[in-house]
Amino acid sequence: MRSRHEVAVVGAGLVGCLTACYLARRGYEVTLYERRPDPREAAPERGRSINLAISERGIDALRRVGLDEVVMKAALPMPGRMMHAPDGTLSFQHYSADGLRSINSISRSDLNRTLLDAALAMPGVRACFEHRLTGLDVDSGRMDFETPDGPATASAPVVLAADGAYSAVRGRLQFLPGFGFSQEYLDYGYKELTIPARDGEYALDPGALHIWPRGQAMMIALPNPDRSFTCTLFWPKSGPGSFEALDTVERFEEFFAANYADAHALMPDLADDYAHNPIGHLVTMRTDPWQVRGARAVVGLLGDAAHAIVPFYGQGANCGFEDCVELDRCLEETGDDFPEALARYGSRRKEHADTIAELALTNFVEMRDKVASRSFLLRKRLEHG
Ligand code: FAD
Repeated sequence: MRSRHEVAVVGAGLVGCLTACYLARRGYEVTLYERRPDPREAAPERGRSINLAISERGIDALRRVGLDEVVMKAALPMPGRMMHAPDGTLSFQHYSADGLRSINSISRSDLNRTLLDAALAMPGVRACFEHRLTGLDVDSGRMDFETPDGPATASAPVVLAADGAYSAVRGRLQFLPGFGFSQEYLDYGYKELTIPARDGEYALDPGALHIWPRGQAMMIALPNPDRSFTCTLFWPKSGPGSFEALDTVERFEEFFAANYADAHALMPDLADDYAHNPIGHLVTMRTDPWQVRGARAVVGLLGDAAHAIVPFYGQGANCGFEDCVELDRCLEETGDDFPEALARYGSRRKEHADTIAELALTNFVEMRDKVASRSFLLRKRLEHG
């Protein structure tokens, strides 16, 4: 290998930036290649998971590189979930038996900016924005990019893919014999809507993740620091009450008002959000292995590039952050033998990622259907004494 100190990280999203922090701490020279412009200078994309729930798994990974405090300063703790029945009745369930533990609502774009700032403040880290990876030669570590100034190339002995669920790096690996990949789409889509602040205050309790369970469908809402809530509708793609069936703003609004009446009353921009925010897809992706060794380079996958999961357990980013911890541990154990460390990291993390993927799928049924059922509420009450 050319130099064990040079690493290319493709994707300066949440996991790519945290990976850069971990590697810089070990003394690596890290270049982040990101297809978008610098997120610190651009507005967040409309309707793309504006906020996230970060839990102890993710906080632990941040803490190990001293970033937990700065990240958590901007977070809103949610110690439980608030269920909204169709008639507007509210019921609250703590997430932990002692009621003291919380998950935390945080803005995706703020978190990304904080992690990017932290990475770029470390010695040896630089970022190339508006560099979309279009090609990769695994043997040499040569990468091809599209940039506003035309094609560009670069190479590195270690290439780490943190370029998300539709990873271009992984796309190149999929052509190699022995590389396994699967993807499963749910027959559901999601759309983001907003409950704005009312008279400068939160229109709902900000100390909860709000859920409107509706059997085959549901909506959730997480608080934002500007006192708004970002709501996410998870609806079937086709059939009655689906995105396909409710294909005009009028049909949608009539259905929404009938089924989510309390939220409807708080959403003056509903029609605009519905018309302009995209319908997102829900996919589980699995890969095996998570690393490929070429003649003079090694390529590894982290975050959604290795394991995209559906969002119902709120663990995709948390799980990606745990990848950084495990890779760091494996580098330590192997004396920074990157190919060996990546092989260990992949074999250890895969089982965990597969389990979280299954839990996330199961939790969709619980959230949309069971959290409101009488037997579920009774069981919870018994659990909490
Ligand atoms: P991404 O965040 O997708 O970042 C990938 C980066 O790579 C991007 O910056 C992208 O521009 C860049 N890139 C892509 N292609 C290229 C290319 N060809 N060349 C160069 N750069 C490229 N997780 C949680 O933990 N908690 C939650 O509450 C939660 N809620 C969610 C809600 C929804 C609706 C969705 C869809 C997801 C949610 N997730 C949640 C999951 C979480 O968003 C992902 O797991 C997380 O963003 C993965 O981070 P990543 O860095 O691997 O990928």
